[in-house]
Amino acid sequence: MDKSLPSFSTRSKVLMIEDDVSYARLIEILLNESSLLSCEVVKRHTLNAGLEAMEAEEFSAVLLDLTLPDSTGFETLETMLHRFSDHNIIVLTGRVDKELGIKAVKAGAQDFMVKGEFDGDQLAKALRYSIERKNVLSRLEDAQRRAQIGHWECDPAGRYFYASKETYRLFDLDPAEVHFTCEDLQAPDSPFAPLMEIEQETKPNGAAKKDITIQTNSGQKRCLSLQCQAEKIGEDQYVYSGIIQDITERMQSEELKKAHDLAQQTAKIREQVLASVSHEMRTPMNAIVGMTNLLLSSSLSEEQLNFVNSIKQSSDVLLGIINDILQISALQNELIVFKNKQFSLLELTEQLKAVMRPKLGEKELIFQINLDPDIPDQIHGDQIRLSQILFNLIGNAIKFTDQGFIELNVRKALETDDHFLLQFDLKDTGIGIPDDKIESIFETFTRISSKDRITEGTGLGLSIAKKLIEQQGGRIWAKSEEGKGSVFSFELKFFKTDQAAQPLNPQETPQPYIDPDMPFTIMVVEDHQINQMVIQKTLEKQWPNVNIIMANHGDEAIEILNKNQEVDIILMDLLMPVRDGFETAAYIRNEMDGEVALVPILAMTAHAHISEDGKYHQYGMNDYILKPFKPNELFTKITYHLAKPQPK
Ligand code: ADP
Repeated sequence: MDKSLPSFSTRSKVLMIEDDVSYARLIEILLNESSLLSCEVVKRHTLNAGLEAMEAEEFSAVLLDLTLPDSTGFETLETMLHRFSDHNIIVLTGRVDKELGIKAVKAGAQDFMVKGEFDGDQLAKALRYSIERKNVLSRLEDAQRRAQIGHWECDPAGRYFYASKETYRLFDLDPAEVHFTCEDLQAPDSPFAPLMEIEQETKPNGAAKKDITIQTNSGQKRCLSLQCQAEKIGEDQYVYSGIIQDITERMQSEELKKAHDLAQQTAKIREQVLASVSHEMRTPMNAIVGMTNLLLSSSLSEEQLNFVNSIKQSSDVLLGIINDILQISALQNELIVFKNKQFSLLELTEQLKAVMRPKLGEKELIFQINLDPDIPDQIHGDQIRLSQILFNLIGNAIKFTDQGFIELNVRKALETDDHFLLQFDLKDTGIGIPDDKIESIFETFTRISSKDRITEGTGLGLSIAKKLIEQQGGRIWAKSEEGKGSVFSFELKFFKTDQAAQPLNPQETPQPYIDPDMPFTIMVVEDHQINQMVIQKTLEKQWPNVNIIMANHGDEAIEILNKNQEVDIILMDLLMPVRDGFETAAYIRNEMDGEVALVPILAMTAHAHISEDGKYHQYGMNDYILKPFKPNELFTKITYHLAKPQPK
């Protein structure tokens, strides 16, 4: 039988300790005849035999004769209560010692019955009541144990104290072994001292609540919530009752949540500060890079050329860091819009190899690319992002490999009607990554190798790659062996190209060209003085016959255009005082008449993601140039838009 949930649907077992064998048999017959209770009577004739039976099995109730061969009188009950304090004992007394029965009930017996004064039904009723009461108590105990809530009661005058078993357990005490009385409670080192303290705190308002932390025997922390209230039971008479609850898990999860929220908040603030600082740094960087490019194209002595090249290298590194920070911030805010255009995987990987050649050459590393032949050359996806991911991974492989080889294998992991899942594996024979660090390398700003101190990097490359892959629905992982090398793998989905879509025919691509003898006018709308100078000098160097008109903000540009000034193309900064680039472009397109409304406008922006979200297009601009601009890219875009007939 389930000890914790006894029930009347099962037959009760009653222990009868009675030395008079025939009387015991009579009681058994009486109980069996009563329809009020179905029970089995187990008979024992001495106290010791009874105690042994109780030790061996669980009884629903005990009928105890107080006069036994091995113990007589009140002592019989005391011995039993001492061993089994929470058993329901019904004492049987003779007519002459009825007083003893009353005393027994006061001491903890559940009831008493005078021999010869009850019939079978009366005894069955008393037993039934007693068993039912025990069941209710046992259910309550079970509920307390499951809910980890205990309760206690005490009389402030110090005459009475009761604590449920769960209260003992919550204080890490075994209720089967310890049982506190009022006196125990007063002891200064009593484990129940907090109950006494809260009892004191209840005095002013009649109620008190507090949380405490105790240390369990195993050294763990346990958080307990105590609530206590005073109940008046008579003139100047109170019972102080309280409940105690284990709130360790709640406290731990609250603490965890707090720590988690704080970490998230800190990361967000760090990222916001970094993003805005980086953005602010782009404008002066633009000037440094631009001026350096101008300096490089002027006549310099060999020594000067070395100096300027050093400036260029360092500013390129710095710009790379700034761009990484801005990109991670854009990725974290899910601002990157992925493109889905047709491109050649072979061309992309060959280009990457060409770009990496100087770095590979420095270390004499072999770089091999193996594309599975069943991957079609033309696929649909975001070519720029794929290049960026591979560029990061290959860059790392070169950085952390001093000798041996680097190998890129691409294979089809899955094919459906409309797409392929491609798996890219980049293998190197470099320094490798310790097992316990492999998970963390994909986190932002994580750099783990001792080599990191002497290599360039911010610890952002892999987290950017991971986000770029995951935001396109793919996944990335790494396997590595310290001292032997690493394999970085990722899976990414690419769509199949339309059968009709043919690769671009280079002959059909317009080859724009500007006649060097024909003068033309470029309007530059830019508020930053140094940037104005950089653009002007860069353009004049490329096209000596170019006429440049400078406007400091949108209103000034509109004013110039209104004076019928002929302009062939406009380079438009986006963030400017008075009227920004977006508004100015929209004004030119919507409010101005004639040829000027159709003039090509190229947005100049330091915000990588602003240019990606297509906003420049919505405001009527034709294209964009990322700042700091690369001179060749600027020339190509200007040439392309000047040579291209503009749509009406
Ligand atoms: P970083 O810009 O510093 O290279 P990454 O995010 O690209 O940052 O890489 C994080 C760290 O992971 C590196 O600093 C390096 O310690 C480790 N790591 C990345 N790739 C490799 C590799 N191929 N071999 C060994 N360690 C690597």
